[in-house]
Amino acid sequence: DRSLADSDPEIARAVALELERQQNDIELIASENIVSRAVLDAQGTVLTNKYAEGYPGRRYYGGCEFVDIAEELAIERLKRLFGAGFANVQPNSGSQANQAVLLALAKAGDTILGMSLDAGGHLTHGAKPNLSGKWFNAVTYGVDAETGLIDYDEVERLAVENKPAVIIAGGSAYSRLIDFKRFRAIADKVGAVFHVDMAHFAGLVAGGVIPSPMEDAHVVTSTTHKTLRGPRGGVVLTNDPDIAKKINSAVFPGLQGGPLMHVIAAKAVAFGEALQPEFKTYAKAVVENSKAFCEALKNHGFDVVSGGTDTHVGLVDLRPKRVTGRDAEKALGKAAITCNKNGVPNDPEKPMVTSGIRVGTPACTTRGFGVKEFQDVARMIAEVVDSMDQGGNPDDDVVAKVRAQAHDLTGRFPIYAE
Ligand code: PLP
Repeated sequence: DRSLADSDPEIARAVALELERQQNDIELIASENIVSRAVLDAQGTVLTNKYAEGYPGRRYYGGCEFVDIAEELAIERLKRLFGAGFANVQPNSGSQANQAVLLALAKAGDTILGMSLDAGGHLTHGAKPNLSGKWFNAVTYGVDAETGLIDYDEVERLAVENKPAVIIAGGSAYSRLIDFKRFRAIADKVGAVFHVDMAHFAGLVAGGVIPSPMEDAHVVTSTTHKTLRGPRGGVVLTNDPDIAKKINSAVFPGLQGGPLMHVIAAKAVAFGEALQPEFKTYAKAVVENSKAFCEALKNHGFDVVSGGTDTHVGLVDLRPKRVTGRDAEKALGKAAITCNKNGVPNDPEKPMVTSGIRVGTPACTTRGFGVKEFQDVARMIAEVVDSMDQGGNPDDDVVAKVRAQAHDLTGRFPIYAE
């Protein structure tokens, strides 16, 4: 059998270039992380060869006794990690975990209430182009334009008016703690299922640095690849045995066929890592770094939505700097700093332009950045953005200088070094 490099040099080249990019650039995309060698190893195993439709001990294929070990470990570890009575580790992505909730607990045409995309909600929470917005009557709540915080009175008003079957909390660019108890009280008032999508902050819950939604939500979904630092994928958790049954049927055979057993093995490895004491230290550092990073950005004249952060993510409003999110993302990319453009509350710009960038600390904290390094990164971001002209182009000399500084910084915190 030939190696990847021998048998497919074109793909091997793409992988090598991507590794180099990850090693050299400063990764600020809040939804990304850097998995351990053990997670990579587990995912690159012969478990990818196996069909295992069904659940451990109840499969539709023979020869599942060893993949059952992997899935049982993944389930057990995940339940322990979040103190949950039930876990399904088969969703191929966070989106499919969310679809499973809708398939299990609502009917097409039902009303659902989730955070709007422009306020930081996810596509699967009822956005128009998504299945959740096409097959359901999606009503959305936003954030207060002044404070950048969820307006719980508005959520309650919308819930009372629209009587949703499901209320969804959790987003992709919301940096503050969510009041799960208030959400649950609203759900109880209107007889709705309360679903928390903790995709972004699951690792912080696992590390014990922010409150868990497990007690208040009827059902919780997550991705496994963001703060939780596992392979790409999704999970569903609940403490309600009836909901558990419905979730299992919704994931398989409702939505998926054969589960990705190699990914489930890698999920088990990541959950095992998250159960170690070092993960608590990591999660604490992610939040400390994020708070310091937002403070430093403010000191360099940036506006941070809601005035700061309680989590791994910060939403930067670029309007005081008179540049757009699109141009800033591009300029910073040239300087080896990777982030994404992001709408801010009441953004006057189109979604492909935006007035903000979203920045997060999970990936660089994994490689060892601390407060000092994030303060340096804030200064580097300011230098690039402050050098941008009216056409949105940064100064070439500044870009070259910051790029060299970025490579120097990442060189001091290597990843996947031989
Ligand atoms: N839920 C939230 C809150 C997310 O931010 C994301 C990903 O961006 C998802 C769900 C979807 O995850 P995936 O990209 O794995 O489908």
